[in-house]
Formats: sequence, C-alpha cells, structure tokens
Amino acid sequence: MKRSFVILGGGVTGLSTAYHLARMGAGEVTVLDKGPVGDGSSSRAAGIITGLLWSETGVLARKLSLRRFRELSEELDGYKFQAVGALNLFDDDSWGEREKLLPLYDRCGAPYEIMSASDMRARWPELRPREGAIGLFDPLGGYSEPDDYVPALARKCRELGVTIREGEAAEELALDGAGAVVGVRTLRGLIPADAVVCTLYSWTNLLLAKAGIRLPVKTVVHQRYLTRPLEVPASIPAVNADPYGGYVRPAANGRLLLGIETGAREEYRVTRADFHLRELTAPASLKRELRTSFEPLVPALAQADWDDAADRIGLLTFSLDGEPIVGPIAGIPGLFVGVAFHSGGFAYNPATGLVLAELAAGEPTSVDIAAFSPARFGAAETDAYLALTVRQQDVVRRRH
Ligand SMILES: Cc1cc2nc3c(=O)[nH]c(=O)nc-3n(C[C@H](O)[C@H](O)[C@H](O)COP(=O)(O)OP(=O)(O)OC[C@H]3O[C@@H](n4cnc5c(N)ncnc54)[C@H](O)[C@@H]3O)c2cc1C
Repeated sequence: MKRSFVILGGGVTGLSTAYHLARMGAGEVTVLDKGPVGDGSSSRAAGIITGLLWSETGVLARKLSLRRFRELSEELDGYKFQAVGALNLFDDDSWGEREKLLPLYDRCGAPYEIMSASDMRARWPELRPREGAIGLFDPLGGYSEPDDYVPALARKCRELGVTIREGEAAEELALDGAGAVVGVRTLRGLIPADAVVCTLYSWTNLLLAKAGIRLPVKTVVHQRYLTRPLEVPASIPAVNADPYGGYVRPAANGRLLLGIETGAREEYRVTRADFHLRELTAPASLKRELRTSFEPLVPALAQADWDDAADRIGLLTFSLDGEPIVGPIAGIPGLFVGVAFHSGGFAYNPATGLVLAELAAGEPTSVDIAAFSPARFGAAETDAYLALTVRQQDVVRRRH
C-alpha cells in the first residue's frame, strides 16, 4: 500500500521536504499551509548561504545544501542560485573564535580563503572594509532570491503530484491509542498520514504543545531592506558583516539588499495560531542606522534610495544551544520536526528538506544529523529556557 505523508507548513523547509519525498517516489504527499505557500519567514529571507558554520553537522549539511542549490538551478524552472561567493567579515576580537574552526572546514572539505582588508578591496573595489578587518571568503556561497525560489519549488512539487492545500491550518495532530501519529486534523476533517513532518517554524511550539511536546525555541523579529536600482550595479559578494551589525548582498536589477540586527529588542512570543507576520513592525530609524553603519563599507549606498515598498519583516527561531532542531520526536512514532535554523533556514532548506524526507520515508539520511536531534534537550532545561524572556543579543549569535 502507498504510504502517505503530511507536511505542516509551506515554507522552504516544508516545500523542500515535500519535493524530496516526491522525487523519491515515497508515496502520497500533502502540504498544508494556513496561508499561501511562502507566507512565513521564507518569502522574507535574504536568502544568503555560506558553508562555513560552527559544527561538523552544520558544515556537512551546508555542503549538501550548496551542492543541491546548484542542482536545483537545473531542476526548477525560474530559479537560479547566485554563485557570487559569501564573505564573512571579522574584527580582531571575533576572529579568534572563528580561526579555531578552520581545521573543521579542512576536515569537512569546505573551501575558504582568508583575506586582509587590502585583499578584499583589490578583489571587490566597491567594498571598503576597514583597516584590520579579516575576511573569510566562502567561494561556494552566494544567495537565492526567495521571490523566485519559493514559487519555483511549489510549482515543481505540484508537477510531481504533491497536493498543496493553501489556506488550511493544521488544528492538531491525530494520534492512535499507542501514541503514534496517524494524521492531522483541520477544520475540514482528518487527513490520514503514516508520517507527519512539522515545519511550522515560528508556530511550531503552538501546535506541538497540543500533543504535550515543547522545544526550547525562541523567536525574534528580523528585518531586511532593498535599495532602488543603482546607476552602476555593485559587483560584490554576499557579505555577512557582523562588525557592522548586519549583512549586504547584491539583488535583482542592480539593487542592494541589507539586513540589520537589533540586539536590544526583546524576543517576540507567538501566542496565537492565527498570528501573521504582517502584525510585526520595525523602528523607522533602522534604515538610517543601516546607512550610517554600511556606507563606509559599501560607498555606493550613499547614492541609493530605499525602495520602501520592499521592506520585509519576519521572525527567526533560535534553539537553546543555537543549533537547528531536526529529527524524530521521541515518544510519537511517525512525527518529525525541523525548526530553529537561526538566521539560516533558507540556506539549510535543500539539506533539511532532503534529510526530513529520508527520515519520514524510513531511509538512511544523507547527513548524520544526530547532533540536531530534538531529544538532546531535557524537559527541565526546556521549561527553564521557555520561561525566560531574552533579548535578541542573548540568543546564540549565528548569521546565515
Ligand atoms: C528578514 C529575514 C532575513 C533572513 N535572511 C536569511 C538569509 O539570508 N539566509 C537564510 O538562510 N535564512 C534567512 N532568514 C531565515 C529564513 O527566512 C528562515 O529560517 C526560513 O525561511 C524558515 O523556513 P520554514 O519553512 O522553516 O518556515 P516558514 O517560512 O516560516 O514557514 C512556516 C509556515 O507554516 C505556516 N503555518 C503556521 N501555522 C500553521 C498551521 N497551524 N497549519 C498550517 N500551516 C501553518 C505558515 O503560514 C508558514 O508559511 C531570514 C529571515 C528573515 C525574517
């Protein structure tokens, strides 16, 4: 008999899981989203990816993502990975910690180049890192435009027979007498499933709480902005510029895309199942701050106007230890989760989608993600973390 799978959430993680299940011919696949696909953080992402992360599992998963983004450029109509490279900037204080990770990158076969300020200025004349800055360049990194990627992935899913039910919220999980998942309930009735994959991101704990599960996940507001087209497009890589408090990358039609962190802001608690990201706001002063901070790094910004209609505000999810939570939920056979991708869930999605598909189908995974297991957190530490109110600067710092 054909197996059936329900994916909760039609963001990049859910769509990627559905796509990989369909490609595997694993069975009938249904994606549920309370809104249209991409209605969560996915359509708001900057889409930057680097393979140079903090843990072996992260680096190996990103290596897979980077390979898959390139393959997806061939598999999906209307999507192309922008292989401009990703430049991670450091100052003296922050470089020491990162330098310790270089042996990990060597061991995992993740290429990089260490650059001085003058190296960077020579390679990208439109980039003016301050004297003493250190660049860790990832030649395989780059970015994706979410406005191309999300619809292209949804189209491909449908072509492969995935049913995407938009405007239909999951109300609760359906469990049998032994506690195994047997489907999902919506206002239209029960959708039976042999396996359910929960990719609800900011809404994850709301739904899982109904089955007595809680994960140590915090949610914070994040925002990014687009300029209008520059007269001369800036030829720069995607830049994770922690010493400048944000990031900048080129964007379609000769624009620049910039994001800024807001460390002093408190976490944002999602308390209603019908919460929508359009309820979020960002202080108007942030664009001025971005300009002040980033003009010395990218002087072309001085001539650029903001395209105010393109502002995007969304949420990021962080776990207690800063690493993603991906895997089966202990005690509920057939239930899998993918959440807490810090500011890198877009970058992770080809790998997490593949791995979640493999787990749900009962196949060995392409990357060993045991270190991302939901079971790594105890109940007491989870409750203590959830009870805290943190500021954004208190969550483990992770950029893309
Ligand atoms: C401004 C900004 C910039 C970012 N930049 C980057 C970046 O450069 N690189 C990067 O890798 N990441 C970036 N991110 C993070 C990235 O956007 C997220 O990690 C990623 O999109 C998460 O995808 P997801 O599919 O897991 O979640 P989401 O896209 O949030 O999808 C969850 C879905 O669940 C649906 N849903 C909720 N409740 C229910 C329910 N009960 N039933 C059915 N459906 C429901 C929602 O409608 C939503 O569509 C950024 C995020 C923001 C906000």
